Amino acid sequence: MAPLALRGPRSYIASMIEERFPAKSGRDVRLAMRRGLKGRCPACGQGRLFRSYLKPVDVCASCGEDLSHIRADDGPAWLTVLIVGHIVVALVLGIDGWAGWPLWQSMVFYPTLGLAMCLALLPVTKGLFIGAIWAGEAAHA
Ligand SMILES: [Zn+2]
Repeated sequence: MAPLALRGPRSYIASMIEERFPAKSGRDVRLAMRRGLKGRCPACGQGRLFRSYLKPVDVCASCGEDLSHIRADDGPAWLTVLIVGHIVVALVLGIDGWAGWPLWQSMVFYPTLGLAMCLALLPVTKGLFIGAIWAGEAAHA
């Protein structure tokens, strides 16, 4: 590493960026998120992302990428509730107005629909977040 005075500010900044963001940082975030949406490894798109309903694999069986350290935390739940809430509330306001369902029917139908949608969407949103985190972590490694 040459002294700062000999390299100039531009070269210094470039070397700082190269140190902070190594060559590995060229991961395609959109591709990784698409692969995660499909429940596939964000690195190769071949291996399965989940070993059970919401439990991600530690290592991709296809490419060997280590995914054990990726924690999606509350992100998938937040996105799922955001999507399902908007759809179910729109249906309640839209259908209940003209269908004239009895109260008991609405109280059974909408929570069941919301629960089913949440259960169906959670693995999808979790895969999306894992893909985004995997792609983003390289940029901040
Ligand atoms: Zn893989």
